[in-house]
Amino acid sequence: MKVKELQHTFHQELDVHYDKEEVDSFFFMLLSYWYHIERIKLALEPNLILEDDSKMFKALDRLKKQQPIQYILGETEFFGLPFKVTEFTLIPRPETEELVEWIVNHQGEFNKKMRIIDIGTGSGCIAISLAKNIPNAEVFGLDVSADALKIARQNADLNKVNVHFMEANILDSTTWPDVLFQMEFDVIVSNPPYVRELEKSLMKANVLDHEPHLALFVKDEDPLVFYKAITQFATKKLTDKGALFFEINEYLGNEMIHLLTENKFKNILLKQDMFKKDRMIKGEKN
Ligand code: GLN
Repeated sequence: MKVKELQHTFHQELDVHYDKEEVDSFFFMLLSYWYHIERIKLALEPNLILEDDSKMFKALDRLKKQQPIQYILGETEFFGLPFKVTEFTLIPRPETEELVEWIVNHQGEFNKKMRIIDIGTGSGCIAISLAKNIPNAEVFGLDVSADALKIARQNADLNKVNVHFMEANILDSTTWPDVLFQMEFDVIVSNPPYVRELEKSLMKANVLDHEPHLALFVKDEDPLVFYKAITQFATKKLTDKGALFFEINEYLGNEMIHLLTENKFKNILLKQDMFKKDRMIKGEKN
């Protein structure tokens, strides 16, 4: 089929679901990823033909069902690095890149070898980008989902870094491997599930219907369940100069300050993301 005609079909089928520009952006992303055809090439060769367009039609079907483009491509970019993503992992968010950047800038506080753990690592995006950017760090990643960890391991290979991944539930110490009891960490970081059921109505279909609920949702009655457990863990497992970093629910900044204060953390700092939402917090042990 002619690429121009295919583009026309994309618009015919998808313009009811998305903005025209968004449809074009999906279309050219797919063309570029799968066929290495860039927008400029089509402008210069309007009669360009795609020999095998079956993949494009499959993608069109999935886009009609509001599946995220990152799952269709099977890959995305985070902190300038490639990451595989599947329906078992959240799609890394730009806000989370800001959290990683904060930690990378903070690591000057540690001039020796340091140890970092990412709790609820998912695709491994936080752990792997920290390992890549802090070469003297030994990095660990923990997740309850074996399916997510499979992807995280592939992502560590893809990015040529060594991260020690472990399958465990941070809420249940009987599932913890020995290393978790034995070691101390200089940085503990987490982007745990934090969306309350009551916030579901604010979410877009592409997130709600396709991203893993295990990684997103918490009960309305106890939205800080993971934060409480991880803060407790951090009070015991951080080194003296250690720091705890969280990505947080934008509506629960005050509750998070309270939680860290109550647990005697120092230099507590709440930070907004690029959308001016309270999105991350840091506390230090001493
Ligand atoms: N930021 C994600 C969202 O907007 C939620 C991530 C999480 O729950 N940790 O859907």
